[in-house]
Amino acid sequence: MSAKPNSIASRDVAYCLHPYTNARAHEEKGPMVITHGKGIEVFDDQGKAYIEGMAGLWSTSLGFSEERLVEAANKQMKELPFYHNFSHKASLPAIELSEKLLAMAPVPMSKVFFANSGSEANDTVVKLVWYYNNALGRPNKKKIISRIKGYHGVTVASASMTGLPTNHNDFDLPIANFLHTSCPHYWRFGKDGESEDDFSTRMADDLEEMILAEGPDTIAAFIAEPVMGAGGVIIPPATYWDKIQAVLKKYDVLLVADEVICGFGRTGNAFGSQTFGMKPDIISVAKALSSSYLPISAVMISDQLYQGIADSSAKNGVLGHGYTYSGNPVCAAVALETLKIYEERDLFAHAANVGEHLQAGLAKFKDHPLVGEIRGVGLIAAVELVQNKENKVSFDPIGKVGTYLNERATEEGLIIRNMGDAIAFCPPLIITRDEIDQMLARFNVALDKTLQWVKTEGLL
Ligand code: PMP
Repeated sequence: MSAKPNSIASRDVAYCLHPYTNARAHEEKGPMVITHGKGIEVFDDQGKAYIEGMAGLWSTSLGFSEERLVEAANKQMKELPFYHNFSHKASLPAIELSEKLLAMAPVPMSKVFFANSGSEANDTVVKLVWYYNNALGRPNKKKIISRIKGYHGVTVASASMTGLPTNHNDFDLPIANFLHTSCPHYWRFGKDGESEDDFSTRMADDLEEMILAEGPDTIAAFIAEPVMGAGGVIIPPATYWDKIQAVLKKYDVLLVADEVICGFGRTGNAFGSQTFGMKPDIISVAKALSSSYLPISAVMISDQLYQGIADSSAKNGVLGHGYTYSGNPVCAAVALETLKIYEERDLFAHAANVGEHLQAGLAKFKDHPLVGEIRGVGLIAAVELVQNKENKVSFDPIGKVGTYLNERATEEGLIIRNMGDAIAFCPPLIITRDEIDQMLARFNVALDKTLQWVKTEGLL
């Protein structure tokens, strides 16, 4: 090893393996070290401020300095810092949080199971679905269908449901019995002359064909995000969810709504399922459940699921699943306080309201030479950059221009995320109209600098 590392950056490079980072590039580039946050802004170790246009990882809904969450954690730490939920044990925050989540659920739900991350919640979903179908004497009904470009996490089962090559390549994933159906991105995958409605019919037909080809008695569940996040912020086309749900019903396939990003106001309603008329049997939530101040996720299940699972647990002696930190009292207390704040400040209605301002502000970029599609709902959106607006041709390689823009935005004091050449916006729910204007002004500068560069490089 070279000289003993001393700066923060060199210590990071020396010691840390970063998720979702090119490790070789990181050796050269080093980290951006964030030291503190205030409202919708975070600050780096040089004191530079950034608007967090992505709420961290689509998650810090209340911004970076909500004192009430600090107090809730502090109070619970003093009272009972840890207890678990195994073998009939319970603690008050987890009971209250379950009660609250069931009261908020978009469709009647019966029970709540806690985990620590979106990935674990979705892994739990898979195991509960398998357990349930075994309870019902349907040992073959086990396959899970998700969608190309869907994102459901990174554990072995969750990554298998995720429909993105980076999460599969060299990890020997997906494992068997995880299938991926068509991605409902009308602008990108709609055929010439195909209406949005016809496109949705084709998506539902694709799903039905897959179910029939595999055998309906082998398909257990379909999992989907109401709005796809990490796959590029893909908004379901008109009539999509009606048609998909009709197919699921026909073949007795459970619907799992992955509300890890959409849950708690992101689309302008408490849940994305409400925005798009979904009637899930299972719902997974995480991220904004605690404004991401502490790790906690949850799975809500219908009574039908619960009855089967309860029978199976009785047969087996216990439900042989659970995490040490399932329902951790400090995490649950912070989540409860988060939900209280949403209610008191009417933040879901606020998200719908300022979300319109965000969408209208972004719509002004539609004539920009680099902009192919602008899409969004509530406080989540993406701008997709293209080499040719008319025929929607992407830049080659995909992501080069998006990455350049992302870096310019960072220089301007704006953190956004490029997924390839789709630039995502997902600011904290507490953002104001003025702050949205500031965010878009910085984006504007970064976009224009990118256009200059694209011209100089002869990429256009
Ligand atoms: N589901 C969705 C829809 C997500 O966006 C994410 C994370 N971005 C996950 C699951 C996985 O969550 P985690 O990173 O907490 O495991």
